[in-house]
Amino acid sequence: MSFVKKSVSTEPIVDTVFAIVRKAKEDVAKNGADVVTDATIGSLYDEQGQLVALDTCFSSLKALDNRVLAKYASAFTGNPDFCKDVYDWVLNGNSTLPHEVIATPGGTGAVDMTISECLDAGQTVILPEIAWGSYKLMAGMDSLEVENYSLFDGDAFNIKDLERACQTVMAKQDKLVIVINDPCQNPTGYSMTVDEWKQVVALLNACAKTHEVVLLNDIAYIDFAYGQEKAKDYFKVFDDIDENVAVVVSFSLSKSMTAYGMRCGAAIVMTKNEDNLRDMKNVFEKDARATWSNINNGAMAMFVDVLENHKEEYNAERRKYVALLKQRSDIFIQEAAEVGLKHYPYREGFFVTLSMDNDVRDAFHEALMKNHIYTVKVNKGIRVAVCSLSVEKTKGLAKKMKDILDQVA
Ligand code: PLP
Repeated sequence: MSFVKKSVSTEPIVDTVFAIVRKAKEDVAKNGADVVTDATIGSLYDEQGQLVALDTCFSSLKALDNRVLAKYASAFTGNPDFCKDVYDWVLNGNSTLPHEVIATPGGTGAVDMTISECLDAGQTVILPEIAWGSYKLMAGMDSLEVENYSLFDGDAFNIKDLERACQTVMAKQDKLVIVINDPCQNPTGYSMTVDEWKQVVALLNACAKTHEVVLLNDIAYIDFAYGQEKAKDYFKVFDDIDENVAVVVSFSLSKSMTAYGMRCGAAIVMTKNEDNLRDMKNVFEKDARATWSNINNGAMAMFVDVLENHKEEYNAERRKYVALLKQRSDIFIQEAAEVGLKHYPYREGFFVTLSMDNDVRDAFHEALMKNHIYTVKVNKGIRVAVCSLSVEKTKGLAKKMKDILDQVA
């Protein structure tokens, strides 16, 4: 007997991050910060070990009138000025597709709204094999099955395995919903090339001959891409989608404005089929109304104020941290190459992930902790959060990890 619905698992969330974060903190309390390397935290930290909260964003928020913070949003789909500014900021002039923007509580809201409203219970969502854990949790809560695609073929995106996953799912249902978290993929740090995106669009169009196709492109980390706005060029490729394809771009202020707790983001829905676009907007609007009702008005007002009145300052401040992130990841990647520590192809972003099978991973993860190095286990790997490691802590880390790995592998 259970009071909750039968279709959900009652197992507690397996939180692979917070338990290890706690262990790292205990180690610091016992042995001192100098001894401990905490590479668990997935938010951007500065060189002094403090969470980065961009001044441009939070000064703007604090200058807002109390009534702006107090108010409901003006629409369930988000304030019109926010929706317009999100579209302009994210697409950066790289799309001519008909579109709608729906404000959501972070990227989480946009991703879950898309997979839960585009698939019926019992259908299958296509997810990357190495991915942000919430995708799988969402699928479970929405009573969906999961088909995974393997991410890499050597150092390149594994288009063949994505095609296999699509074919497997097409054999059993009339629609595809595919999640691609790019650029700055979590947890590998891979970013696809424009050519790889062209291959994806060609695959989507081939599938669209017989099936409806929804691509969910999760861009949570895009504003920390090392090429900055050049990272948005690939959106042009979406102009070639077939009528039977919709792209939902999931955007978040969590990383872009270091506003994790403000719970603000957006789903940008793009498709050539205006009837389908209208239907998606209507359903997404009802989903919003039925679940979170409306989005944090202050967060939306802050986004608009920053982009309309303080854009240069915001870009300059954010880019300072993009450069810091690059400095840290350059050190780790270069040293990993020197000592032969294997990782998934890394291009940019918050995390580097060492590649190994799950048996080695478990033993390695334990051995690292015995040596005061704290990381996060992911499927087939160990995630190193360069976003929260200082330059000093990053130096020499790859060698230490390789030495420990050699003892367990
Ligand atoms: N997508 C990925 C890949 C993430 O790593 C995260 C956060 O860690 C999110 C989306 C969504 O975060 P939020 O809901 O705070 O926007």
